[in-house]
Amino acid sequence: MHFSASKIFINNRAAEQQCLHLLQTCTTLFNLTKIHTQILKLGLQNNPLVLTKFTQTSSDLNAIDYASFILFAPDAKTHLYDTFLYNTIIRAYAHTTDSRTTAVNIYKSMVYDDVLPNKFTYPFVLKACAGVGNLRLGESVHGSVVKFGFDEDVHVLNTMVHMYCCCGGFMDARKVFDEMPNWDSVSWSAMIGGYARMGMSTSAVELFREMQIDGVRPDEITMVSVLSACSDLGALELGKWVENYIEREKITKSIELCNALIDMFAKCGDVDKALRLFQTLDGKTIVSWTSVIVGLAMHGRGLEAASLFENMKDSGMAPDDVTFIGLLSACSHSGLVNEGQKYFDSMTRVFHITPKIEHYGCMVDLLSRAGLVKQALEFVNKMPIEPNPIIWRTLTAACQLHGELNLGESITKQLIEKEPLHESNYVMLSNIYGKMWKWEKKNTIREKMGEKGMRKIPGSTMIELDNKIYEFVAGDRTHELYKEIHEMIDEMGRKIKMAGYVPSTSEVLLDIGQEEREDALTRHSEKLAIAFALLKTPRGTPIRIVKNLRVCGDCHCFTKFVSKIYNREIVVRDRNRFHHFKDGVCSCNDFW
Ligand code: ZN
Ligand code: ZN
Repeated sequence: MHFSASKIFINNRAAEQQCLHLLQTCTTLFNLTKIHTQILKLGLQNNPLVLTKFTQTSSDLNAIDYASFILFAPDAKTHLYDTFLYNTIIRAYAHTTDSRTTAVNIYKSMVYDDVLPNKFTYPFVLKACAGVGNLRLGESVHGSVVKFGFDEDVHVLNTMVHMYCCCGGFMDARKVFDEMPNWDSVSWSAMIGGYARMGMSTSAVELFREMQIDGVRPDEITMVSVLSACSDLGALELGKWVENYIEREKITKSIELCNALIDMFAKCGDVDKALRLFQTLDGKTIVSWTSVIVGLAMHGRGLEAASLFENMKDSGMAPDDVTFIGLLSACSHSGLVNEGQKYFDSMTRVFHITPKIEHYGCMVDLLSRAGLVKQALEFVNKMPIEPNPIIWRTLTAACQLHGELNLGESITKQLIEKEPLHESNYVMLSNIYGKMWKWEKKNTIREKMGEKGMRKIPGSTMIELDNKIYEFVAGDRTHELYKEIHEMIDEMGRKIKMAGYVPSTSEVLLDIGQEEREDALTRHSEKLAIAFALLKTPRGTPIRIVKNLRVCGDCHCFTKFVSKIYNREIVVRDRNRFHHFKDGVCSCNDFW
């Protein structure tokens, strides 16, 4: 009796080992189904070791559903009371974009079945919550992290910070971060990355400085986030410093890091450096190509962007929809109407990419900028998808610029019906009435805006000086150098008027006197920033500024004169593109 029981045990052990070996070497789903049959024949469907391995293999083959179908079958309750098994399933689902909710649900049933989570459970669950982007769900998981006593574990807390950042809970993320018992490079990276992704770039840079003071060595993931913050701020000096730092500290230059450097140089105004880095880069990815194409587009170098696109095709790399946004906007910024149309057609015909609303937007922009307002309208009417308000606004702006005021008026009125709380619709209609000299109607619009409590988005300009970012807001009187800056603007005005500058007061379009209009113009934030730079930097230093809105016609003209009279190169990045002012001319050839 004793002997035969032991024999069965040995046989089971052998069968178990055999199954484990088969699972270990299994590489296809077809083989997995065959092994599954084998498991059933051998009666090993309740063996925890075999089941765990089976689940892992399913997960490796991207077929976690197959395993969970068996594990969660109504007759298969008993073997699930195992933390490791649960972790394997949760991890597999957490890694698949479409299945993150399932990952969280499986975690819930784990807790419901009284299976104790361990410190390896939470990073996966929190990662899944981050992917779902549901803050309340994340908060409830945070609750159970505390309940089960893992709120001191750095690895768990790192993913918690990441989760809160992804769900938009920045205060919570920062609170978790600040209260951590100790930080490793992943903790810093999670918080800095969170700030950078949400466009809170100044906070990202500040935290990076704290990280250095703390003496933690950043890894390449942190550096990618810091570079993306530099790109957003247009902070070239900081970006260059980061590049040196990467070299000095011998930080691994992954392809993502190289792409981030290229993107930073392109967006901070040194597109030639971006091109040089790109040309020497091994293993270029679609992101590398797209970054330089977008960069060239922003600098108005449309022909170069187009030729790079051709090189890209020749190299065998297939463009994606983001590449086309860059390419089409390159055509738009350089007035390449025929080329733009050709590329737009090739999207579906050659590359089988269905154009999205952004691509239609680029085309409307292209036609509008070229003054082909009627064609743009025809294009919009033929669109297979509903045009969004941005497209209508592009069209109205073109109507305004090219004197199609009646058309502009009727489009804007419809826009206001659709979006009664969107202030820029009112601003546009008000501007159109200004151009029509219909002051009474214009006043009514402004009163309506006042009633609804809407205001124009204030223009603001950033400038980087001595490792600090300064921000100027239109009409802001609080700056410590307010008096000096305004004296400087007056002096600049006098000098450039002598050289032929005439303030273009139609940009203000307020029904006020000439002098007041000029005064409103001189308060535009880019003028404040340029005056500040002239005061604070040595003769001949190039000036780089970043403006949140599109630069207005008067500031554009003003800057051209300043670049000549003060002999300064001035690089302005506005919402859409770069303007390089030198010797009284701008790289955009007054087309923007
Ligand atoms: Zn302006
Ligand atoms: Zn320009």
